[in-house]
Amino acid sequence: MPLSRREFLRVTAAGLGPGTALGSLAGLGASLTPATARAQQLRIKDAKATPSVCPYCAVGCATIVHTVGNEIVNIEGDLRSPHNQGTLCPKGAAIYQLHKNPNRATKVLHRKPGATKWDEVELDWAMDRVAELVKKTRDETFVERLENGRLANQTTAILAVGGATLDNEWNHLQQKLLRGLGIVGIENQARI
Ligand code: SF4
Repeated sequence: MPLSRREFLRVTAAGLGPGTALGSLAGLGASLTPATARAQQLRIKDAKATPSVCPYCAVGCATIVHTVGNEIVNIEGDLRSPHNQGTLCPKGAAIYQLHKNPNRATKVLHRKPGATKWDEVELDWAMDRVAELVKKTRDETFVERLENGRLANQTTAILAVGGATLDNEWNHLQQKLLRGLGIVGIENQARI
């Protein structure tokens, strides 16, 4: 049965695709409240609720992470939070996909110079390779004093980019390491 635009909006607002049997029922005006409430209940039934914080930006919205065993089954806003009061922005509402996502890279990939494909490598090998290249580059490019004699103690040949999901403790340590090496090109993808 074709849906009018109004019916389509009503169906999608209920969180159900119009192509599903339940979606068609909702489009016809059937109340699915008991069914959706039961689905929500089942998803977090017997789950352990752990308070957490959205990692994406400095607003720091509070979340509840539901786990069954070692598996995350749901993440949602924490109603008790005074500033987000259970709400999350679209990015925060998708945090679950940080953990459960078939597209997430779980192996270290390396592309040799000139190669056209990526190879899987061991994490230990990659860490050693990064350390080796950082030392080599720093040794080759470190500038103790500028031409005018001013003390610089820097290398501009290495840049560092951080991500919004890095926590304070990691960023603190990373800053210490980078600045200690004389790296001055430091950027972080934090939005506030
Ligand atoms: S990304 Fe969105 S949900 Fe996460 S802390 Fe920032 S505003 Fe809150």
